[in-house]
Formats: sequence, structure tokens, C-alpha cells
Amino acid sequence: MTPPPASLLHGPLLEQAAAFSGNALLLSGPARVGKRAAALAIAGAHNCSGTRGMYGEGCGVCPSCRALAAGAHPDLLIVEPRTTTSTGKAARRRVIPVGAVLAARDKSHEYETHVYEFLEVRPTFRRRVVVVDGAEYLGPEAANALLKLVEEPPHGALFVFLAEDRRSVLPTIQSRSARLDVTPVPDRAVERGLAGLGEDADPALVAFAAGRAGVLEAREAVRAALADAAEFSGALAGGLLAALEAAERLEKRWDATWHPEALRFTWRERPPHERARADTALSALEDALAAYASPSLSFQVFALRLREAFGLEG
Ligand SMILES: [Zn+2]
Repeated sequence: MTPPPASLLHGPLLEQAAAFSGNALLLSGPARVGKRAAALAIAGAHNCSGTRGMYGEGCGVCPSCRALAAGAHPDLLIVEPRTTTSTGKAARRRVIPVGAVLAARDKSHEYETHVYEFLEVRPTFRRRVVVVDGAEYLGPEAANALLKLVEEPPHGALFVFLAEDRRSVLPTIQSRSARLDVTPVPDRAVERGLAGLGEDADPALVAFAAGRAGVLEAREAVRAALADAAEFSGALAGGLLAALEAAERLEKRWDATWHPEALRFTWRERPPHERARADTALSALEDALAAYASPSLSFQVFALRLREAFGLEG
């Protein structure tokens, strides 16, 4: 089993990171540009015991590479923000609390594995790697608890911080990390990535990806969302009843990660004033869902507002 080609779309970046001997990297770039895949490839490169590839990437066949491909690497810990639930009602603020770092501070047992305890254990392969996906959500307390570990990582561990905007990461973390930019890749690189996965270049998927390698990782969900969005948009023109029925189908299949973006993609070539109104309707739908409004009513209202936006009512 070879490493996912999508992670190799950022070959030069991987080459730099694979040769990195410091304690902490900060990878920044837009959402779904492939930061997570790059971080996993870096973890693979630093633990591979086989013959590494042209960018220093893992061989794909040694025990470490196989563990990584199976999603069960003993030296890899991924830390992500949680949505705070302290009041019992889901708050909107995402945060990485100090409880992610220290088991003793994780009163509500939100995290299964904690950074501090994870790094006390010797690596199974070469180097334990802690990926903080969403470094901008590190609270000051969590960042403070991490600092000593970042400065003197036990057993030579490596930290990989991921952020959409590096300026929103606490300066204490920024200043201790080597910074690398993860940028969108050319369309033909996305096509190559698809070919590497044994798939045909799908023009809609390539256009939707717009160079974001991370979209390849989620290509099944993206394809489904694009198909749903196209079907829904088509139904809007088919009269009020068809639109309301399509809204019901969309509600049942709704994936908050991909459907909003897929919808915007389907109306990207409409006139700017229509797009603006459609975007407003979509934001209102997302707000209503986040506020636990009735989903079926919210989707019906959304369909009606889109018909207005596109001049289809009446
Ligand atoms: Zn290997």
C-alpha cells in the first residue's frame, strides 16, 4: 500500500518538512488545501524505516508506513478543537482547552489521549508526532501548557501546528515554530492526484477543488454534495411544490461541511446580485440550523428564498 498521492501534491513542502530536525512546524494555508494530509505525510516521513521517496515521503510498506495508512499509528496524536459545552448548551466557540494537554485538567473527559501523557511514552518507531489541527483555537492556558513540551519535547517528539491563518495563532507558538505555507496546487496537479488514486479527471470535481488537495481526501462526500446541489438547484425551477420536495430531500442528506460550498459552486455563474441574495439565504439557513431551529421549516424557507433570489417565484 502506497501513501495517498494526494499528500504528495505538496512535494517540495514535504521535502523540507521531512528533513526538518527542529521541534515544531507551523503549516498555514486555506481550509482543505491539504494541511492535514501534509501533516500525516510528515509524520510518515519521520517514522519510516524503508527507502523513502523522491520528496522524502514514507516508503508505504514498512511497519510504520502501514500503521499510518491503516489510520492506527502509535506515534501519532491528532489534537482538534471541541465546541465548548460548559453551559450544557452548545456554544459556538471552538477551542482547544488545557484539558487536551493534561489529563488532570480534562474534567469532562473530552479527550481520550492527552499531549503530556502521550509524550511521556517512548516512540514505537522513531519520533512521536503531535498534530494540532486548528492551532488558532489553542486557548492561552493550553498554549502555556504546551510551551515547555514544544521547547524540550520528550524523546525528540515533533509538533506540527496547522492553521488557516498563522497570524491568528498565539505568538508564543508562532515564534517557536518553523513556518511553512501550504498553497493551492495547479488543476493539473489535482488531476494527477486523481489519476494516482485510479480515477478519471472529473472536471466538476477539479473545478470545485480549485487546487485544494484536501478535497481529494473527501472526494466521495464532495461528489455526493455536488450531485445533491445540482439536483436541488434544478428542482427550484420546477415550480413551488417541486422546490419544497427537493428541500426535504436536501435536508435529509445535508452535510454541513460540503453542501453549503457545493451549493455556492452550482450558482457561481449566476449574476452577482442573484449570487449575493442566494449567499444571504444560505447563511440564514446555516444560522437557523446552528440555532436548532426546525430543520424542515428552515429548508423550506431556504428553497423559497432561493426561488426569489433567482427570479423563479410566481
Ligand atoms: Zn516506510
